[in-house]
Amino acid sequence: MGKTKTDSTNWRQGTRLVRGGTERSPFGETSEGLFLTSGFVYGSAEEAEQAFKGENTRYIYSRFSNPTVNMFEERLALLEGADYCLATASGMAAAFAALACFLKAGDRVVASRALFGSCHYIITEQLPKFGIETVLVDGTDLGAWKQALSDGAKAVFLETPSNPALEIIDIRAVAGLTHDADALLIVDNVFATPVGQKPLELGADIVMYSATKHIDGQGRTLGGAILTDNQDYFENHLTTFMRHTGPSLSPFNAWVLLKGLETIDIRVKQHCQNAYAIAEFLSARKEIKNVIYPGLASHPQHDLAMSQMSSGGTMVSFEIDGGKEAAFRFLNGLGLIDISNNLGDAKSLTTHPATTTHQRLSPEQRLEIGIPDGLVRLSVGLEDVDDIKEDLDQALAAVQKV
Ligand SMILES: *Cc1c(COP(=O)(O)O)cnc(C)c1O
Repeated sequence: MGKTKTDSTNWRQGTRLVRGGTERSPFGETSEGLFLTSGFVYGSAEEAEQAFKGENTRYIYSRFSNPTVNMFEERLALLEGADYCLATASGMAAAFAALACFLKAGDRVVASRALFGSCHYIITEQLPKFGIETVLVDGTDLGAWKQALSDGAKAVFLETPSNPALEIIDIRAVAGLTHDADALLIVDNVFATPVGQKPLELGADIVMYSATKHIDGQGRTLGGAILTDNQDYFENHLTTFMRHTGPSLSPFNAWVLLKGLETIDIRVKQHCQNAYAIAEFLSARKEIKNVIYPGLASHPQHDLAMSQMSSGGTMVSFEIDGGKEAAFRFLNGLGLIDISNNLGDAKSLTTHPATTTHQRLSPEQRLEIGIPDGLVRLSVGLEDVDDIKEDLDQALAAVQKV
C-alpha cells in the first residue's frame, strides 16, 4: 500500500508496534480484523469502472491489496520509518521482486558474495538468464565495491550481518559508492531485524525482509516485505510488478505477522540478550575454535557492527574443532535445541551450513565466505538461557567422546 495514512508517526516505537496501521471495521473489534477474501464488491457498475480507472481508492482484488495485508504493511512501514511498503508471500518473493521490478537486459548488478543461498541463486543464475550482468564482491572490502562500481551499475544488493558467517558490511559507505554510480542500494536486513538496524537511515534505498524469521518469530508462516522512500521505484516499478506477477501475501499470513510485530521489540531484545550470553559461554569452551558474534569485542568488525546495529543480534556462529564429523556429533548430541535451517524463532534452532543451506557451493566458495566444515550456526531462542547453556554443554561433551 502507498504512503502511510495514519497520523501515528509521532508514536514511539513500542506504540507503533502495538497500534500502528490498525483500521477498525464498523464492528469495533479489538484485534485487527482478518479479511480472508480474494475480491471486493461494488455498489454499482459505475463504481467498478471508477475503481479500475484509479479514480477512487478502494480495495479491488487481494492480489493488489487487502485490508489485513495493508495493516501489516502500514505497521512495518512505521517501524522502519519508510514511506512505502509492500508485503510478499515469502522473503524470496521480496528479494526477487525488489530486483526484477526495475532491472532489464543489459543492466549490471553488484552484490556482496556472502548471501543467503537463494539470493545467491537469483543473482548469479536467474538474473544472468535475462541478460543482466552480475558481479560479486567481498562485502567487507570497500576497495572491491569501489572497483566493481566504477564500471557502472543499476542495483547493489547486500546482506549484513551475512548468513552464516556474520560478516558486517558498512551500509553507509556502500550507499555512498552506490549513489556515486547512480545505482539503488537494496539491503537484505533479515539477520539484523527491523528493530536492530535501520538501513534506510544509513542511506539504503530499499530494504527487504523475510518476515518468516523474526517478524513472525514463532515459526508459523512464510512472508516477506519490501520497504522504500523512493516514490519512483515504488509507484512506477514495484507496485506494477507486484500487481501483475502475483507474489502477494495471504491475508491470513499477514494477520499472523501483524500480531508478530506487536511483540517483536521485546522478543528481539531478549533474543539478543540470550545470544550475547551464549556467545560468551561458547568463547570459553576449548572444543570451539572460533566464536563469531558481532556483539563480542573479538568480532573483527565489532566497532562497525555497533555503529550500525543496536545490538549484536540474535545469531551466533561457531567453528567446532574436528570438522564435519565433530559438528555432526555436536548436533546429534543436542536435546533441547532443534536442528532446523529456520531462524529467528522463539525456539533455539541450529544448522550445519556446509551440508544444508550452503551445500550448493563448492568447498572453495564456502571457505571464501567463511564456512568451514566445522561451522555451526545457532539461532538463539527465548528459552531460559541456562537451559540453552546446559544443552550446549552436554552436546559439546558428546563431541569429545569418539
Ligand atoms: C530466510 C531468508 C531469506 C528468504 O526468506 P524466505 O521467507 O525463506 O523466502 C532471505 N534472506 C535471508 C538473509 C534469510 O535468512
